[in-house]
Order: sequence, then C-alpha cells, then structure tokens
Amino acid sequence: MPVRVTPLPRRPDRFGPEELAALGRALDSNALWYWDNNRPTLVSKAMEAYAAKFGAPHAIATSSGTASLHVAVAASMIPAGSEVITTPITDIGTINAILLQNLIPVFAEVDPNTATPTPAHIEAAITERTKAVVVVHLSGFPCRVDEIADLCTRRGLTLIEDCAQALGATYKGKGVGHFGRFGCFSLNDQKHITSGEGGFVLAHSEADFYLCHNYADKYYDRHRKGVRLHGLAPNYRMSELDGAMATTQLPKLDAIVAKRRKLGDRLNRELGQIRGIIPQVNSPDAECSYFFYLLRIDETIITCSRKEFLSQLEDEGIPASGAYVPTPIYKSPYFQTKSFFPGGVWPAEVVAGRTYDYTAVQLPGAEKAVATGIQLYLNEGFEDTDIDDYIEAIKIVAGRNST
Ligand SMILES: *Cc1c(COP(=O)(O)O)cnc(C)c1O
Repeated sequence: MPVRVTPLPRRPDRFGPEELAALGRALDSNALWYWDNNRPTLVSKAMEAYAAKFGAPHAIATSSGTASLHVAVAASMIPAGSEVITTPITDIGTINAILLQNLIPVFAEVDPNTATPTPAHIEAAITERTKAVVVVHLSGFPCRVDEIADLCTRRGLTLIEDCAQALGATYKGKGVGHFGRFGCFSLNDQKHITSGEGGFVLAHSEADFYLCHNYADKYYDRHRKGVRLHGLAPNYRMSELDGAMATTQLPKLDAIVAKRRKLGDRLNRELGQIRGIIPQVNSPDAECSYFFYLLRIDETIITCSRKEFLSQLEDEGIPASGAYVPTPIYKSPYFQTKSFFPGGVWPAEVVAGRTYDYTAVQLPGAEKAVATGIQLYLNEGFEDTDIDDYIEAIKIVAGRNST
C-alpha cells in the first residue's frame, strides 16, 4: 500500500465577499487609473497599508515582481555595462531585471544545502566592475542578508533583496526587504497573497521613493512635476482593480504565513532526522514563509538518482519535483548563446568593453543544489496528517536507498 492514496490539499479559497466588494468599489469610482492629484486612490491607499504592515517608510506599487526588481535596479542608478552579482537559482524575473537595465549578471556560487549564495560566495564574485548585489530569499528562506548587507556597505555596493517568495519572512527578527536599499515583492497569483498581477518595492528614503515611482511610471514625475522625463522608464503601473485586491488580501497574510511556518518548521525538524536527507533550512535565525519546501538528498548516502527518488515518492502517493529550476540559470539557452536581444549584439557587453562567456561558468555547488534538490509542494490548507505522509514517504524511500 502506498503511504498516501488521496490527492494533497489544494489551496483553500482565497477570495471572498471582501474582494468582490472591493472590486465593486473600484468599478463604482468609474476610473481604474492609479493616480489622482486630488484624492487618495485605491492603489495609493494599498501602498500606505503595505508600507505600514512591512514597517518601511515607503512602498511603491508595480505591475509584477519582475517590474519591482527592474524598478529597484533602475533606481540604483548604476552605469550600463556594470556587473551585478546574483544567484543562479531563482525565478528568471530576478535576472531579467538586471539584463533589461543593460547590466551584466554575474552568478555567485551557491551553498548546495541552502541553494543560496553565502556572504563568502558573494564576496568572491566581486570585481572592480561590480556595482550591486541582488539576493533572493529562495522558497521564503531568508539568506544571510545581514552579513551580505555589511559586505555591501564595506565594498560600496547597492543591495537589492528579491523577497518575492518571502512575504512575511524575517531574519533575526527583522523583516526581509529592510536589509538592502530596496526590497522587491511580487503579488502574482502564486504568492501567499495576490492582487492578480502586481508587486511592490519597499524604499527607505524619500529620494528612493520618488526614483522608484518614476521608474514604475515612464518617469512622469507625478509627485513633483519638475523632473518629468529625466530618465527612460517603462510603464509598470498597478491598476485600481489590483490595488483593491492588494488591500483586501493584506490582512490575510499573517494567518497564511503562521500556518505554513508551523507545517514547514515541523517538516524541517523531522526531515533533518532522516539519514540522507538535508533540509534547506538549518538556521535558527531564519523565520521562513515557506513558499514551497526545499530539501536535498545527500548523494554520499542515498544510492539512487534524484529521478529515481522522485519516482519512488510518486509511487508512495507523494508528488514532488526537482529543485525549483531545471538548471542553474547560466545554463539556460539565452545565456549560453547570449541571445538577450535580437540582432546578435548584447549592448551591455559592448559598453563594458569586454565579453562574458557563460558557457565557461562552472559553479559546482549550484549544480549540486539543482541536481540533488527536491521541491515539495506546501500550502496553508495542509494539516499535520499531510506532513505525516511527507515524512513517512521520505523515510521509506530514503531508508530503501541508503548505504
Ligand atoms: C515570483 C517571483 C518573481 C517574479 O514575480 P512576477 O510577479 O512573476 O514577475 C521574481 N523572483 C522570485 C524569486 C519569484 O518567486
């Protein structure tokens, strides 16, 4: 008999009469445009609520997590052709934000046990051309961002945090998104709470607030007028429908995080006891939001391939997949061929006056993280009995395939 014969729980209903009423109010206003000089809009009220909730002086609405990242990279005012250090295990939005601003992504090595670069890995990737670091709190597990922030201060680098998977995560008691100059979040449908599509940036100074606002809205300086069109910026505006959703969803976040944290922390503790299994989270300083659950098989103990491990889990009724990305991002086709833009020219490289060969990049830690990682699905609708099944199935498969 397999450990489990029923499907895993789907996400509980996320939308109710509150969302419908808020959307109705947006439509009743007869305008879905986020800006009004004379009255607060639903988007501006949403951003006040988000800034207050996350304890930042300013939150800027955008149309996606990728947009939030691009806005933050642009607002960092880094000269084209400079290098930006980041991780090869992330959503592609992190990387595209760097490429779109004509900057050069440099991939740091990764600790296979956390699937995230350590401060030392980031330091080792710094050159005289480095201007910024973009860290990712992968799966909602905060990286060692305080040490990375100190490193960036010491080396004069801008730090941007990709918190898209880490809504509600904290590190050493402080919310993610507060360690760097900018904290970037997504509110797409997959995240803990959603505005449909959307995102926001946490900024910590008034100057950065205006910069982000301008980089999210074609550099029309709607607050101050005078600096209109002083830069090149896309339209990443949030609509009033998304603003209505964002405000209505925000009060639901804490319960979602609390439930996932209870389940995820238990998985962590108990999977850590199983020989051959390495849970992603092994830091008592990290309070995770558990966007998904990441673990890794220890290939010195587990004798079967990851593929075989996944297939045996499947036989036990537990669906699972590989470690978030199929390969580290530098191995993806557009990096291997540098076909970022049509026409065979990568402008950033031309400006930099040097070439970058991503086919020569070798990061064994990142490759190990990807090759041995296993992603378990997790949501706030899970109960302890579902976690029991995860633990039981992994115990059986690991036990069957250990040295
Ligand atoms: C979701 C996500 C993004 C991008 O967000 P979109 O809203 O889909 O553009 C960026 N980085 C990470 C780590 C993400 O999980």
